Amino acid sequence: MPVQTDLFGCFTDNFGVLIHDPGTGATASIDAPEAAPVEAALKRTGWRLTDILVTHHHGDHTGGIAQLKKAHQCRVVAPRNEAQRIPLVDETVGEGDTVKVGALAGRVIETPGHTAGHISYFFPAEKLAFVGDTLFSIGCGRVIEGNPEMMWQSLLKLRGLPDDTQFYCGHEYTAANVRFAKTIEPNNKALAARAEEVSRLLAAGKPTIPATIGAEKAANPFLRADVPEVAQSLGLAGSPAWKVFAEIRERKNRS
Ligand SMILES: [Zn+2]
Repeated sequence: MPVQTDLFGCFTDNFGVLIHDPGTGATASIDAPEAAPVEAALKRTGWRLTDILVTHHHGDHTGGIAQLKKAHQCRVVAPRNEAQRIPLVDETVGEGDTVKVGALAGRVIETPGHTAGHISYFFPAEKLAFVGDTLFSIGCGRVIEGNPEMMWQSLLKLRGLPDDTQFYCGHEYTAANVRFAKTIEPNNKALAARAEEVSRLLAAGKPTIPATIGAEKAANPFLRADVPEVAQSLGLAGSPAWKVFAEIRERKNRS
């Protein structure tokens, strides 16, 4: 039976998401922003929580861990390089490690920049990626603990996943990201199409994710810092891609 996911909102703009292996009954929560919406999703689906896979230490991704672990005795998997900042960790993981959720196998990709130890989880057989606050649809996370060059390298790793990979991110920021992206690439047709799709989804009360890596490569300016036309439009023709990325990120911070 194919993998199942359940996506829901937490706080004002955080996403929670469950991944479920019907064969074994195993269910993982990707991060745990707050316990109540995760419990509601478990009740709605009838799934039993076996694991929490943490992407990074921020409180809006870890605040529900203690309560969920107490209720379900689930395993908590966390990034090795910042596990000391995350509560009740059972297992730490780093680049290339495999995390099993029942029979599902996720590969750990280290994606530092937003935080120093941030990781993403990629399930190759299911073509699913959980990228926390590194990549957003038409955007990317703020570079808080790392530097722009590090963040660009992390985004390149995610950009290198198969085009038909569906990715889930930590926040519903897509509408604001689209508005900003149009200031960088006003003539990008893929971006214009995505803008229409996002308006339609939000008007219908639906989330704008998951998105695919392939679609994102065509429309997300933060994944396009090495496109010569993008560098040129920012007055940075010939600059290294990470510098173009840094300029786009800086403009977004000020927007
Ligand atoms: Zn964060």
